[in-house]
Amino acid sequence: MLIQPLQDPASSSQEAGERKAKLVQERFRLAGEEALKVILAERVAKGWGVPTVERYDGGGRQAVVAVRDLFECLPFQGKMAEPSSHLFRGYLAGVLTQLMENRVTVREVDCIAKGNPQCTIARRKRREP
Ligand SMILES: [Zn+2]
Repeated sequence: MLIQPLQDPASSSQEAGERKAKLVQERFRLAGEEALKVILAERVAKGWGVPTVERYDGGGRQAVVAVRDLFECLPFQGKMAEPSSHLFRGYLAGVLTQLMENRVTVREVDCIAKGNPQCTIARRKRREP
């Protein structure tokens, strides 16, 4: 029996995000914030939560996305000290990596799991750990 190594959910969702962004770019000829909005709208339909682009600056390669009712954080609402998004965080990193043509890492700044009103995920700045 072949045993597959377990993959970190953030890294496998990152690959899914990159593939999705590439598909939206090629099939719908969309780029940047427009492509991001289409990709995020699909996440609403999938039941992941309700994401909104708070900031997108393709030139400066900055992005901030807020999410209401993010499914993976909702069960821990107000109960955790640390942010709880892994799937969406990885997915968004993959989407931004493809759209910004640059390796993008993100961090969850605010999270409903640690008591914030919504989850906010932002591109990690170079000097941040
Ligand atoms: Zn969260």
